Amino acid sequence: MTKDDVITLPHPNLRLKSKKVGVITPEILQIIQDMKDATISWDESREHEVGVALAAVQIDRLYKIVIIRNNYDNKNDFTFTAFINPTITKLEGTIEEDYEGCLSVKDLYGKVPRHTKARIKALDEHGREFRVTAEGFLARIFQHEIDHTEGKLFIDHIKDKEDAFYRLSDDGNLTQLDYATDIKSNKVLWK
Ligand SMILES: [Zn+2]
Repeated sequence: MTKDDVITLPHPNLRLKSKKVGVITPEILQIIQDMKDATISWDESREHEVGVALAAVQIDRLYKIVIIRNNYDNKNDFTFTAFINPTITKLEGTIEEDYEGCLSVKDLYGKVPRHTKARIKALDEHGREFRVTAEGFLARIFQHEIDHTEGKLFIDHIKDKEDAFYRLSDDGNLTQLDYATDIKSNKVLWK
């Protein structure tokens, strides 16, 4: 799989709930491999961005599966951890705003409020349950990705916020978008 297999808005499946994985079959393991391949392919095509995580719905496979890059500060580290049936068991800390982008929402960034700490429970590729306590940017990634498994996108959290939307320009800088002309009635973004 490549970056061309990543679905983007206005694809309607991005707003559907994914189903829980029952048995971890070879098909499920293949989906996880496909997710890694698609993220790496996307990453190689973008100069100023890093593909840090992906949910299975983003390659149009509607299962509750998320992959997160093990070392997203290093563009040369292409290892990931898979989280099958991930759920947030507790949100803690404070709520902070920071920039988020998404492989399925092209060239758009948003300032999204998220909890600074999240406790997560998931299954690994052998079907064993494990738990993670995430803080800071990693807590944000989990909230963004688990939203995907529920059919929710980062823009849905900020849809009425006039100063929250940005575009990544060719030189790698974020510039604020005009809410009235670029966002409010944008048929690609809103169903
Ligand atoms: Zn996303």
